[in-house]
Amino acid sequence: MDEDLLAVDHCIDCGKCYDVCHIAKVTDNKYTPRSKIMLLQKLIDGDELEQEEINDVYLSTRCGACDDVCPMNIPITDIIQREREILAKQEKEPARTTQICRNIFEAGSPGRKDASVRNSWVTDELEFEDSSDVAYMAGCWIAFAHQNIARSTIRILNAGGITPRTIPDETCCGLFLIDNGHLEEAKEHAKKYVEYIESLGIKRVIASCPGCYTVLKEEYPKLFREPNFEVIYSLSLFDQLIDEGKLTPKKLNKTVSVRDACAIMEMSDIPRKILSSMGVEVREIFDRKRACCGGPAGVKPNFPEISSKVAMLAIEHLKDTPDGTVSYCPFCYHHLENVCHEKNEEIDMQDISQLLLESIL
Ligand code: SF4
Ligand code: SF4
Repeated sequence: MDEDLLAVDHCIDCGKCYDVCHIAKVTDNKYTPRSKIMLLQKLIDGDELEQEEINDVYLSTRCGACDDVCPMNIPITDIIQREREILAKQEKEPARTTQICRNIFEAGSPGRKDASVRNSWVTDELEFEDSSDVAYMAGCWIAFAHQNIARSTIRILNAGGITPRTIPDETCCGLFLIDNGHLEEAKEHAKKYVEYIESLGIKRVIASCPGCYTVLKEEYPKLFREPNFEVIYSLSLFDQLIDEGKLTPKKLNKTVSVRDACAIMEMSDIPRKILSSMGVEVREIFDRKRACCGGPAGVKPNFPEISSKVAMLAIEHLKDTPDGTVSYCPFCYHHLENVCHEKNEEIDMQDISQLLLESIL
């Protein structure tokens, strides 16, 4: 029997996945992780899904909260990816998903942005060394929407004695392709990008975006092969520079809440350690559990209202922290900020790199 079907068969309908899924929460359990995986049999049998069932498959950010709690260890997010792969082949995926995949594959970014302005965040006060074998990858959300994160990251690296280079033809990491089961395109994309970075003689890539970091580090080896360069998460490097005494943060004496990044929850001690080195106390709001913003993997473009409702769950909690919220995921930052504008809400949020820069200046 098919391994995934066997796993689905083990579901005991305990409801634990409903309780952690923010999409289930805002839709009164109309769309649950269990309801998604139960569609696999039909898809494998080649049966056509109803539109509501297709919506169910695409109403997931693939945050992984359900995987964390399933007592039967059902690989829920992998099954959702597989279902999307089948639907894409049947040409039944949402039109916006098809378009975004095409934008990434053909033009290098989800929003088909002008690639010639991708590195326009580079300014004169930042130090780069074109011959360096250490490169910085900003990623789409930082390069096109939140360039200050790239600038503060480079200023911190420079202060810590690191002078990286940019990647002239940087491109999207391809996370959206992976999340939506476009695995053949994702493979080709990974191959091209890995070979391009290697052709520049780059030995280490520093990524600030948790999505880019996990895709380069964990997905490319599965899709293509282990790259001949190391992939480093910018916060791990900041932490190391602080430990080595190359960065000496001043005490800021603040209390903040933290927006954790679903993609790297296992690394969530690192931002807290950096904050502690700045004398910043963390008020834990989400109990160190995944609290998805509701935007990724196509939920925001395909189901904007549901996506905003999920974001509002987070925003309501974040409004009351005395000195604001610290984020380390540019996509989360972008989505929550947009929803605040849309709903006339206000939260005081900044990327951790900006706070760290403030404390070392
Ligand atoms: S947590 Fe696992 S076993 Fe429980 S309902 Fe969800 S999928 Fe089924
Ligand atoms: S991955 Fe997240 S959004 Fe998707 S079904 Fe699981 S808990 Fe819900």
